[in-house]
Amino acid sequence: MTNQQKNDFTSWYIDTIKKADLMDYTPVRGCIAFKPDGYEIWEHIQAEMDKRFKETGHRNAYFPMLIPESFFEKEKDHIEGFSPELPWVTEAAGEKLEERLALRPTSETMIGHLYSDWIKSYRDLPVLINQWANVFRWEKKTLPFIRTSEFLWQEGHTAHVDEVEARAETMQMLNIYKEVVEELLAIPVYDGQKTPSERFAGAIDTYSIEAMMKDGKAVQAGTSHYLGTKFAQAFDIKYLTKENKHEFVHTTSWGTSTRLIGSVIMTHGDEQGLVLPPRVAPTQVVLIPVGPWKKNPEIMEKLDEIFAQLKAQGIRVRLDDSDQSPGYKFNEWELKGVPVRVELGPRDLENNQALIKARDEDEKEAVELSALVARIEEELVTMQTRLLEKARAFREKHSHIHVDSLVQLKDHIADSTESGEIPGWILAGWCGVDACEEQVKEETKFTTRNIPFNPPAEKSSCINCGNEAKHTVWFGRAY
Ligand code: AMP
Repeated sequence: MTNQQKNDFTSWYIDTIKKADLMDYTPVRGCIAFKPDGYEIWEHIQAEMDKRFKETGHRNAYFPMLIPESFFEKEKDHIEGFSPELPWVTEAAGEKLEERLALRPTSETMIGHLYSDWIKSYRDLPVLINQWANVFRWEKKTLPFIRTSEFLWQEGHTAHVDEVEARAETMQMLNIYKEVVEELLAIPVYDGQKTPSERFAGAIDTYSIEAMMKDGKAVQAGTSHYLGTKFAQAFDIKYLTKENKHEFVHTTSWGTSTRLIGSVIMTHGDEQGLVLPPRVAPTQVVLIPVGPWKKNPEIMEKLDEIFAQLKAQGIRVRLDDSDQSPGYKFNEWELKGVPVRVELGPRDLENNQALIKARDEDEKEAVELSALVARIEEELVTMQTRLLEKARAFREKHSHIHVDSLVQLKDHIADSTESGEIPGWILAGWCGVDACEEQVKEETKFTTRNIPFNPPAEKSSCINCGNEAKHTVWFGRAY
């Protein structure tokens, strides 16, 4: 890699995703092309999420990408939050449109409009719908996958008879996000509630999962919102109760995006390039002939056999028989983050063994050929857990729970900078006043990540004003 992770994390990141062939830039600002290896990571995320959504009773539907301007104006917080980021269609087929159409930044409004028609009685509830789509938010600062102007995501939109049921849904979906991100992507997350200033535009409460990247910065990896009856009132979504009364429904929405691709890379990648958790890696195993293999046809015969066996086990395997040197191939596949490499040369064959190397470990291991497939299968499973453990250990190391005042936070940041360490996150008390949150941000660039459900400690005083803390909050610099 030309740019080192430890010196310039952002350049390392951009370098890595380009060289690993995950994406490319396009002439449209903030809009990237997802190349097959990048897109396939998304497909694995999609498959797992989709499975869990369906297991919990949700169904997929699709709504238009263009949303009339008047829809946005119906919910005042929503338009206030989103209007600075909306791209507009003002003309079609050479004629100016009577009403401008926004490229959707999210679909509460269009869906609210339709739900008011679809929902008539308590018998129609709950409505549990998810959409897989692209959305647009014209972001000022962009970074591939992490923050783009167009991104791919899923957005769930549900309607319920009451608050209790809607809140249970909000939590259920946040929990699914936590499980998928930890189990599939091996990224540990803190789940909790967003502070009011970080709430989704139009939500009563926003909950998030937050992940720490290798440079110590935070990524909001998914959000789930309880919207109360705000959108129901704006779009007149009422139902007839069993008692024949008209009531507003309570709605929720929840989303995760292609930002997760960037998060995987920033959580596990190293100076050699990507390190992909086996469950999302487009290629899980690469087979590479070594030594004078071209003179030994048995090498390729054996590799073909191993290839077929792995494939039969459902493992995503590649055989690299190109005429590049083994060293070149090792680097190339390491850069692409392939979890397991298998080397086979004439001497190995004589000894009836192959060498395997896990992407995240230094040592190679000799494995008897008859046990090879089983050993690889086992390694894919252990590597998946090992990556989660490594990421968890990294996060614990950089989560600081003894920084209790703004002065201490500034000292902590200064000390970290001096020693070349990352400042990571801090757990601190907050009195609940927006101005205190703002002050911390202004002076340190540390923003509130979330109010964790299970904080490792409880704080009694506000980091800024010293008054009694209402909440214990994670603070960190964020993407
Ligand atoms: P929201 O609808 O704002 O709650 O967004 C849902 C999720 O989409 C967030 O939690 C992020 O993970 C992701 N997201 C938001 N904005 C962007 C963006 N510009 N690019 C990629 N992902 C995004």
